[in-house]
Amino acid sequence: MALNMDANEGGLFYRRLGIKRVINASVWATGLGGSISSPAVLKAVDDASRWFVDMDELNRKAGEVIARHTGAEAGLVTAGAAAGMLLEAAACMAGSDPAKVHRLPDTTGMKNEIVIQWAHRVNYEHSFRAAGAKLVQIGNINGAEHWQLEDAITENTAAVAHIFARSQHRALPFPKVVEIAHRRGVPVIVDASGMLPPPENLRRYIEMGADMVAFSGGKGLRGLQSTGILCGRRNLIEAAYANSSPNSDAIGRAAKVSKEEIAGLITALELFVQTDHRAVLASWRDRCQYIVAALQDIPGLRAEVAEATPELEEFYSTSPRALVSFEKSWRGPTLEEVSTQLRDGDPSIRVASKEVPGTIVIFVATLQDGEEEMVAGRLRQILTTHSGHSR
Ligand SMILES: *Cc1c(COP(=O)(O)O)cnc(C)c1O
Repeated sequence: MALNMDANEGGLFYRRLGIKRVINASVWATGLGGSISSPAVLKAVDDASRWFVDMDELNRKAGEVIARHTGAEAGLVTAGAAAGMLLEAAACMAGSDPAKVHRLPDTTGMKNEIVIQWAHRVNYEHSFRAAGAKLVQIGNINGAEHWQLEDAITENTAAVAHIFARSQHRALPFPKVVEIAHRRGVPVIVDASGMLPPPENLRRYIEMGADMVAFSGGKGLRGLQSTGILCGRRNLIEAAYANSSPNSDAIGRAAKVSKEEIAGLITALELFVQTDHRAVLASWRDRCQYIVAALQDIPGLRAEVAEATPELEEFYSTSPRALVSFEKSWRGPTLEEVSTQLRDGDPSIRVASKEVPGTIVIFVATLQDGEEEMVAGRLRQILTTHSGHSR
């Protein structure tokens, strides 16, 4: 079965609207369309679009599949990890009490504080606030101490949040957070949006004691861009569902998931767990090597492979990348000029130029078959034309 679509055969719709193709070498970025689903996922979407169904029944059955693959007691398909975080907060504050569900984001009379470490603060915490939660920060640039977490947990604490994203540098380790929170009877809610693959992470945080975990469906899982997974304890997932669509008097109603999206997400999840990720990782590494090899002989330029280091528990570390930077002797275009020229071409090539200072990060997991050649070719052209080096 084909895992990938042929990018060269698509795009009729975009052309009709006069929209440029983008080669995404930056990350599973929402601003670029999230991820590209495999043919089986899109077939499931088409198939699911032909019947009406009882959405309660569909949500429950889909939740059972999620539970099976995450090892959690229960699961729910959400409108992305951000919606998962909104529902995590809503579930921990309002539970399934219809009066409280109705009242959100007004949290009067509810525990409404979510404790979060300084190192974990990300834009997506907006989802917690959107549900009505108040964030209580612990720690600073120097890290967080276990006594700070102990001290921040009060009778108003609804949950402790743990974000696996950019930086775990000096963050309190997850097992310690779980231990302290649970000793105080407080649930731990996790954002692991971008932590798939590796597939082991589907079960990992639940096994380590997380009460709820949110994943993106539209990143490494390759479901539709607008989907996500929430999994965790049965009573909390039931509360999340009470706070979400199809309930029309709920904070999560504005983050509805369609029957087609559920079909796509569940199919993507099933494909994901069947995939040989060692082979996928090896193919990503090959793409990095190809790009690095194509640039190797340009004087004044450093091109290297950054290996996947998932033990770091940080977003970028889950896959290998190609890194390009300049030696002091470099007299060609600046990094900004290179990334602007890549962006302004057709197709437009997007790389990550701000993630690592002084470095262009070429993220290859989002490339489609053969696109590494286009990225390498265009980069070589830009880098050699300006430096006066002949190809
Ligand atoms: C992408 C991301 C999210 C949001 O995920 P969506 O599935 O796009 O809603 C949340 N947290 C982090 C750290 C992310 O990188």
